[in-house]
Amino acid sequence: MNTSNLTIETNDLWQRVKTICLSTIQNIEEKGQAERYFGMISSVTHIDDVIKFMVPNKFAAETIEKNYAEKLKLCFGLAGASMNIKLEFAVDENKKNTIVYTPHQVAKSRKISSFISTMPLNDEYTFDEFVRGPSNSFALAAAMGVVKNPGKSGYNPLFIHGGTGLGKTHLMQAIGNELKTRDPSLAICYLTAETFLNEYVNYMKNSNIMEFRKKYRSVDLLLLDDVQFFQKGSEIQEEFFNTFNALQQAKKQIVMTSDVAPKKLPAIEARLISRFEGGMVQEVETPSYETRLAILRKKAESSDVRIPDSTLEFIADNIKSHVRAMEGALGKVAVFIGATNQVLNIDQLKHLLKDLIEKEQTLKKLTIEEIQNEVAQKYGISVAQILSTEKTQSLVTPRQMAMYVARKITPKSLQEIATAFNKKHATIIHGVKTIEKRLDVEPDLKNTLEEILSKFGSKIEYK
Ligand code: ADP
Ligand code: MG
Repeated sequence: MNTSNLTIETNDLWQRVKTICLSTIQNIEEKGQAERYFGMISSVTHIDDVIKFMVPNKFAAETIEKNYAEKLKLCFGLAGASMNIKLEFAVDENKKNTIVYTPHQVAKSRKISSFISTMPLNDEYTFDEFVRGPSNSFALAAAMGVVKNPGKSGYNPLFIHGGTGLGKTHLMQAIGNELKTRDPSLAICYLTAETFLNEYVNYMKNSNIMEFRKKYRSVDLLLLDDVQFFQKGSEIQEEFFNTFNALQQAKKQIVMTSDVAPKKLPAIEARLISRFEGGMVQEVETPSYETRLAILRKKAESSDVRIPDSTLEFIADNIKSHVRAMEGALGKVAVFIGATNQVLNIDQLKHLLKDLIEKEQTLKKLTIEEIQNEVAQKYGISVAQILSTEKTQSLVTPRQMAMYVARKITPKSLQEIATAFNKKHATIIHGVKTIEKRLDVEPDLKNTLEEILSKFGSKIEYK
């Protein structure tokens, strides 16, 4: 038997597979998510043709298996492993987060909390790495206020809202990272609303709802990202309402983010909205040129290669919609400089960043109506049919496809998209998810999507 657990070769192989796998994911957000999940893997064992991954909880095991198993298998092949390997995902009993329920004193006496966050914190998302500017100074001040006095009434909950890629997750995790450093005995939990929902469903399935409650009601700091994903009238809102009340009563800090202000969250019940507004609400806005440049300088500092200021200015000038896109540009430039040891002139920069710049320009101008038009044309139906409520499949697919494209390639909020389709917020989320799932298994649908996107000068990096 070839037992290579913990050997240098297995570790080496796994590092290579990880690098290959991450490099195949174009979308920066998806890449970040994959990095977080791979970071949860505590050990990799290679016995015969079975590669076994240990992770801290069942949810992580299921998610990694569902989302990455296929890809990982392929990458193991690319990295030189046998093509017949089987992947297994199991819970690492030593790291299992059952100790979550250990009474607080015990955790305290050990000085380090044994609670493991549902999703790991990215340790690069710190206050030090966050650049302050007029677009985010209030949100930043509020986040620092929370750190000073977690659980204090004026700041509890803290609700940060704003467009995508503007630093909400970064700020929220900076609170978590900072509090963890100041007091390692705190039980800190970060997760997205979507994951909260999935966990809830999983615990329900296993008739373990009491454990779910115990877990989330025992945290000192709950960081709940992207609450716009909660759906109207759902059990999960009831569950979260109760969790929220329990935590607040115990003076535990809650931080939430969303892409719109609380009162514009149409799928969220009024009683929850009023809770969300009960503490402090702050917005992050699109950064100015100076802030964009400052952010680029900060990010460039941690790059392996030296990137000249004129290059950073070019990026700040041409890529404005969100910080995530700027990071994408910076990454491309760094790879080029690293590989060629050559500084880029303006023409080369324009060429290298052509896709990103074009996307920026088309997306800025692109309206949801144009998307509806294009999709209707592609499927040979009318825009009125896209907007109708008729449920025949020949209309449902184009309708959901239009929702998907609008959500993925424009910076419009869910609310704006819902209004443009004259549908409920939850209907848009459902439409987007349905297409996402179908794209994985229907190559024809993927081709159609590619054709639609090409009309807008966009590529299929959105899956
Ligand atoms: P959001 O959650 O609002 O969609 P993120 O927090 O994921 O956005 O931010 C996207 C990327 O931009 C992250 O890599 C983050 O570090 C970076 N970023 C955003 N704003 C800032 C800032 N003010 N300073 C430094 N980095 C920032
Ligand atoms: Mg985010």
